[in-house]
Amino acid sequence: MSAVRPGVAAQRAAADVRLADLPLRPELVGEEPYGAPQLDVPVCLNVNENPYPPSPEVIAEIARAAAAAAGSMNRYPDREATALRAGLAAYLNRGGYALTANNIWAANGSNEVMIQLMQAFAGPDRVVMTFPPTYSMYPEYARDTHSRYVTVPRRADFTLDLDEALRQIRLEQPDLIIVCSPNNPTGTSTDLSTLRTLCEATDGIVVADEAYQEFARAGTRSALDLLPDHPNLVVSRTMSKAFAFAGGRLGYLAAAPAVVDACRIVRLPYHLSTITQAVAKVALDHADEMLSRVDDLRTERDRLVGWLGEQGLRTAETDANFVLFGRFVDRHAVFRGLLDRGVLIREVGPDGWLRVSAGTPDEMAAFRTALLEILPDSLRMTEE
Ligand SMILES: *Cc1c(COP(=O)(O)O)cnc(C)c1O
Repeated sequence: MSAVRPGVAAQRAAADVRLADLPLRPELVGEEPYGAPQLDVPVCLNVNENPYPPSPEVIAEIARAAAAAAGSMNRYPDREATALRAGLAAYLNRGGYALTANNIWAANGSNEVMIQLMQAFAGPDRVVMTFPPTYSMYPEYARDTHSRYVTVPRRADFTLDLDEALRQIRLEQPDLIIVCSPNNPTGTSTDLSTLRTLCEATDGIVVADEAYQEFARAGTRSALDLLPDHPNLVVSRTMSKAFAFAGGRLGYLAAAPAVVDACRIVRLPYHLSTITQAVAKVALDHADEMLSRVDDLRTERDRLVGWLGEQGLRTAETDANFVLFGRFVDRHAVFRGLLDRGVLIREVGPDGWLRVSAGTPDEMAAFRTALLEILPDSLRMTEE
């Protein structure tokens, strides 16, 4: 037996040990933690939050529910979050569905739901397929679950290229396909017939990430319509965006009960805290109020699209609470110029584009004023 030699890390004081000294998985070397910069600036239009805080009444009820939950804090929470899942089903059923708690799974944000789906259905020797430009977390979930990540680029107008998708599905036999609709960061919706065709073209799981569905234009149908006929379809939702509950960390999915069973196998025990379950239930009980600003935000979004067009800029067609606009030769300079004026947006998406969230009228005015100040320079930086 060879003697165990202490590694570099063991020879240093803990405070002096760097990441490079640790036996990090090779594929994580040089990786940065995800995240939009969290900067303390007056106008935050960078992470697609609902800018309106809860009403004093809802705040008081959240506090009451948290206080009540505190009385049983010595006990583990309901592992199955049954009451909360029933509340989420009831919320979705307002759209005319007949879902029960057995169709719903919930976790700490839809990011956790998504990694559970990866843990259950992707993994080593398995393939995850997405359609970029799309949500920047998808490749990270794939990396963290050792899944092979395959992409089928969208068309120039950011719609999904169905023929190419079908060709790649035959070729790659993906185990999990994610369609983000409305798509982050472009805002593009994918129609249900395309989604249905994808579901029928694969034995794998098809996830419709509908984080922004509540912002879609009137008449846009949810993938929930397809659930009864497609057991391999999963619809992912979140309370972080339209529901104005990003700080509560509650995401959920609707699917066949068997999909829920798969998530229950991989979830960590007691993953949803007593507090999370209690306060999310309060928010759901006040769904109308929590969602009351969605129409205002849609209006601000559409106004913003119009205004950006008037300034000679291009925008992507959007069904979400954000707008992708450009194209700039040096988008970072535009991002910086806005930030210098107290307006934080997101440097994300294809080269030359920037993403701005729909905010309050005041926030939108601040964005427009700041952009106008740098517009002469910005326009010089557009490509056409
Ligand atoms: C914001 C967002 C989510 C929601 O994430 P949470 O973890 O629920 O806060 C999910 N998918 C996409 C594409 C998003 O942009």
